[in-house]
Amino acid sequence: MTPELSVAEQAALTSGNDAWHTAAVETAGLPAITVTDGPHGVRLQADPRDMLRGQPATCFPPAVASASTWDPALLRRMGEALGDECRAMGVAVLLGPGINLKRSPLGGRNFEYFSEDPLLAGVLATEWVNGLQSRNVGASLKHFAVNSQETDRLRVSADVDERTLREMYLRAFHRVITRARPWTVMCAYNKINGVYASQNHWLLTEVLRDEWGYEGLVVSDWGAVADRVAAVAAGLDLTMPGPDPTGDQELIDAVAGGALDPALLARNAGRVSALVGKAADRVPGEYDQAEHHALAREIAARAIVLLKNDGAVLPLDPDAVQSIAVIGEFARTPRYQGGGSSQITPTRLDDALTEITAAAQGTVLFAPGYLTSDTAAQERAARDGMSESEADSDLLTEAVALAEASDVALVFAGSTHETEGADRDSIDLPAAHRELIEAVAAVNPRTVVILSNGAVLATAGWDDAVPALIEGWLLGQAGGSAIADVLFGRVNPSGRLAETIPLKLRDHPSYLSFPGENGHVRYGEELHVGYRGFDAREQPVAYPFGFGLSYTTFEYGQPAATATDAGIEVRVAVTNAGQRDGREVVQVYVSLPGSAVRRAPRELKAFASVPVAAGQTADVTLVIERDDLAYWDTRLGRWVVEGGEYHCAVGASSRDLRGTAVVEVKGDDARVPLSTDSTLGEWLADPRGAQVLGQAFAGAAGDADGPMAAAFADPTMLLFLSAIPLGRMAAFPGSPLTPQLIAELVTAANA
Ligand code: BGC
Repeated sequence: MTPELSVAEQAALTSGNDAWHTAAVETAGLPAITVTDGPHGVRLQADPRDMLRGQPATCFPPAVASASTWDPALLRRMGEALGDECRAMGVAVLLGPGINLKRSPLGGRNFEYFSEDPLLAGVLATEWVNGLQSRNVGASLKHFAVNSQETDRLRVSADVDERTLREMYLRAFHRVITRARPWTVMCAYNKINGVYASQNHWLLTEVLRDEWGYEGLVVSDWGAVADRVAAVAAGLDLTMPGPDPTGDQELIDAVAGGALDPALLARNAGRVSALVGKAADRVPGEYDQAEHHALAREIAARAIVLLKNDGAVLPLDPDAVQSIAVIGEFARTPRYQGGGSSQITPTRLDDALTEITAAAQGTVLFAPGYLTSDTAAQERAARDGMSESEADSDLLTEAVALAEASDVALVFAGSTHETEGADRDSIDLPAAHRELIEAVAAVNPRTVVILSNGAVLATAGWDDAVPALIEGWLLGQAGGSAIADVLFGRVNPSGRLAETIPLKLRDHPSYLSFPGENGHVRYGEELHVGYRGFDAREQPVAYPFGFGLSYTTFEYGQPAATATDAGIEVRVAVTNAGQRDGREVVQVYVSLPGSAVRRAPRELKAFASVPVAAGQTADVTLVIERDDLAYWDTRLGRWVVEGGEYHCAVGASSRDLRGTAVVEVKGDDARVPLSTDSTLGEWLADPRGAQVLGQAFAGAAGDADGPMAAAFADPTMLLFLSAIPLGRMAAFPGSPLTPQLIAELVTAANA
């Protein structure tokens, strides 16, 4: 609380001073603090009017890439490095990480988000936040919540059932909030089931604070607040950007007029001043740009996913004297981050062409292959009076000739842009890129494709033509050198897909209900987000969730599992059966056959990125936390671990499961009280209910030959009766149940 502040000062404190600072209250000795984007670098604007340019900072791999490492320890190091850069630049809060689920591959901000799986997103983001906050710099966990599309992003209502909300869209937030305690949480722009996240009392107060015990500050997304008074009452502490004198006055008036409890405003202002107080502990620091570039390179190399490597085309032998054709403008002009608020001005920028040239022994020649929006070739074409397609076809001819004359062809292709603010409308490669790949592959059997993209691209239809395929995502400023590290085997790839690559968009579980219309998007696939939906429908995919190759091979022993009070411990031996040291991402997918509730066939419940030297075996222990086994019971309004035999399938991807251990887990007590509205079937399925009902029938119906006894003895009739709520049975002719007897039964059954 901030008792010394007047209502007007409190109101002013709950909105920013400008785009990137909180308001200072000099009378109370409260300085302003700086907050800035985020998440994969520090975007401290050099000029307040220039949204696009920030002061130079390390552009680490965006989340689409860092998540593909599946390595929380690496994310922690990235968080620490970001914290050091914040300290050097006077930043108190870095606006990230973004952990919304990738519901659709069309999501415009998928490059800023981690995964289609809440466990993976939650575990990685927890360590990112722990790393950042270890430097006394605050995180801002965003966008809370259900912000999985850009279409109509400031208004759309994400309409989602409660079980899906809890188990999928809130689960990662819960994990990060309870384990890493981010200093701030940023509310989303959108509505959830009709209520803006910024004024959603259920979300910001009942769930976040009352259930999860969150004690930090809730900040709005920039411009997310439609109604200051409603937002303050709902639990939103800080509205950004500011200043907002009109809104401040509305708050003052609402307090004066009794429409807003003054204690709520004081509480929210108190949280802003507590945040400012926390930030005062930060000591200025400095960082070494070269060291951070090296870390960005390490993470980027670990993020690269080797999707295909027929005939061991890769790695390229660094000692071989061979001619290499580097084709595709992206090799020279890298795509390394997406557009919007996360756009970083890098301290330097590696390109793959330079790095490949430096690593190779033989000749390396380059052909751009296609135009991009900012290439010199495009300008040349315009000068020469050529159309874009004429220029593309010229570039294609030149590239094919180069590929034909070379020992190896490395083709750089991908999506041309992804940005905050707009969803994509296709997951296809640009036509010019696809044509280039096919034409090059037709003349050079050693063609390697390297993709740059912020969200999945369909590969079906053209990847058959190439022996090797690398998913290079958007890799940040050191992506060029990281790609060379993997191509030449200096790094053995260990990246794994954090999102499924479908055969086609139409197959995706979200396809029929993304991005909605007329202000609503219905989360129609419910729990079956991403791989859960593909698996539930046994649908083939191009590359499954969790997939990624290595230059070595790993063999799995038979897994074993033990139930403990804390959850399940799974043990498995993993052997590197090849000639190179490598890293395996061991994954555990859990299912509960015969579950009482609808579940996906398999859910990721534990994983570990494990280094294994050539010829060695690692004994890997993975812990599944009991909380992660729970489903949200809508009848009880709480989490429940169902008892039963859990199948823990261990493997190298969601569709490459090498062994299963079955373990009995004791369930929570989750008895739903019986009522007059419970069906006969529900009464009979409940041991106590069946008992009291049996006694009542015996007493009331009396003789064993009566019509009721006959009905119970007939299986078809029993099935028919089972659907009827007990309370309704009193009305049936011949029923021994009277309303009074039913009331007694309810009392007895729940005693
Ligand atoms: C984005 C946030 C970002 C904020 C500040 C918003 O448009 O949604 O992710 O942190 O701007 O730039």
